[in-house]
Amino acid sequence: MSEDIENNKPSNFIKEIIDEDLKEKRYTHVHTRFPPEPNGYLHIGHAKSICLNFGLAEEYGGKTNLRFDDTNPTKEDVEYVESIKEDIKWLGFDWEDRLFFASDYFDTLYEYAVKLIKKGKAYVDSSSYEQIKEERGAPTKPGVESKYRNRTVEENLDLFERMKNGEFGDGEHVLRAKIDMTSPNMNLRDPIMYRIRHAEHHRTGKEWCIYPMYDWAHGQSDSIEGITHSICTLEFENHRPLYDWFVEELEIHHPRQIEFARLNLSYTIMSKRKLLQLVEEGHVSGWDDPRMPTISAFRRRGYTPESIRNFSDEVGIAKRDNVIDIFRLEYSIRQDLNKRSMRVMGVLNPLKVELLNYPEGQVEELDAINNPEDESMGKRKVPFSRELYIDAHDFQENPHKKFFRLSPGREVRLRYAYIIKCEEVIKDADGNIEKLLCTYDIETKSGSGKSDKKVKGTIHWVSAQHAVNAEVRLYDRLFNVPNPGDDKDVDFKDHINPNSLEVLTHSLVEPYLKNAKPGDRFQFERLGYFCVDSKDSSEDHLVFNRTVTLRDSWAKIEKRGNK
Ligand code: ATP
Ligand code: MG
Repeated sequence: MSEDIENNKPSNFIKEIIDEDLKEKRYTHVHTRFPPEPNGYLHIGHAKSICLNFGLAEEYGGKTNLRFDDTNPTKEDVEYVESIKEDIKWLGFDWEDRLFFASDYFDTLYEYAVKLIKKGKAYVDSSSYEQIKEERGAPTKPGVESKYRNRTVEENLDLFERMKNGEFGDGEHVLRAKIDMTSPNMNLRDPIMYRIRHAEHHRTGKEWCIYPMYDWAHGQSDSIEGITHSICTLEFENHRPLYDWFVEELEIHHPRQIEFARLNLSYTIMSKRKLLQLVEEGHVSGWDDPRMPTISAFRRRGYTPESIRNFSDEVGIAKRDNVIDIFRLEYSIRQDLNKRSMRVMGVLNPLKVELLNYPEGQVEELDAINNPEDESMGKRKVPFSRELYIDAHDFQENPHKKFFRLSPGREVRLRYAYIIKCEEVIKDADGNIEKLLCTYDIETKSGSGKSDKKVKGTIHWVSAQHAVNAEVRLYDRLFNVPNPGDDKDVDFKDHINPNSLEVLTHSLVEPYLKNAKPGDRFQFERLGYFCVDSKDSSEDHLVFNRTVTLRDSWAKIEKRGNK
């Protein structure tokens, strides 16, 4: 408990259990693990689990292992292993020298299985999968014992060894635990421990042709590693009696399993299978497409590790499934970027402005504040000249009532510069606005204190001759309904938001950004937070991803008009 007070983190039901275990001396320390299956990239739900497992160990002065649950030989991939490691490191956690693979334990698991066979607690079943499934019964219908259930220990040992030696084909036999075919808990109805699979494994190659089932490997892997608190999601609650049964029959270290509710986030999906589908079918550009809910996508989009960790802490843990509003994640990144981001000016949809009374060839270097939230970030110079660009959205030829920015005959302040007035609108032959002819009021230079003229709007701009070209990618939610995975009758892909990506190829940013590097983050004043894309941006072609808007919706920005 003293840890709690020091860290100022609220307690939760998991910590209460741990506190009790330490008090009762069931364990002397805390050792957790994060056990991903390397069959996809990590998503924000995994981030929650990582923060929880590593966070608990940190709080209690314990340790956390990274263990790849690689029991399934065909679906796993080295690419996933590497990406998972990178993501955990990026989040700021360290498994030190404790990187493990469930496949490291294949020998031990085999020995454990032999031990159970010898105890009469496991047997080789030669029924077909269909038969086994049929005989398992249903939650309301007791199962039926297999006709192979009472094979002798010798026969079982012999068959199991020959299964291992590759004498049989896929599906010919399985090894099952001998528990209780009438148990109301289906997981206890003689679950399969091993199946034959003549497949190559990404680490053990062709060494094995029998592979442990997840339920057989998972609890024992925890036990072998001396895990004290095995934290998992709710769907494993019903598996706990099985995991307990295994470690008790094997008489090995007994971790305590604690279940919590999965993190679900609105307007997105967390199923790896579905995320893979989005990638494979080209609905997104890859696992790290900035619209994906993966950690690599959030990183590329400009999220900070701190914002994800704070979000994870802030949503807490629950015992019942729920859906967290994605707004809370966006809030977390805004809070963080607001404190740390340098402010700059960028014009997404440029509209040319010529200042008729500004001397040709003159350039002024104006002072701009880098971050009003952090004085130590200092100031920079922004060039100002006769030809400028403003955002097309900041001009309306026929302004509606609450529009306080630029329109014919009206004045607006240019950030860090002068008040300008729109004198004339120049159009092309088709009636499209080509440029605005304006005048500036020399007395109104920001910070000069010469004039007390007030205008209602301030807008951003860039100097035409100094501006740097940029591509800007604006992201919206990938799905247009809050729970795209929920509807059983509709394919989740039918809910994909067709406008989730808008690419602007003619944006302009102030010259300070010329040397921006992949991963650099900025606030574009009045527009949002942007991050230089780590894949597609280069010195000759800057690409910015919009991480998040400044406020929670465009609607609100419009309602506020212009400050
Ligand atoms: P699969 O269906 O492929 O098993 P999974 O999401 O469970 O998918 P794992 O790689 O097994 O993927 O997950 C690793 C760890 O992350 C597990 O301990 C799991 O409980 C946890 N985890 C996965 N998804 C979430 C989520 N949405 N919220 C919290 N924890 C999660
Ligand atoms: Mg899983």
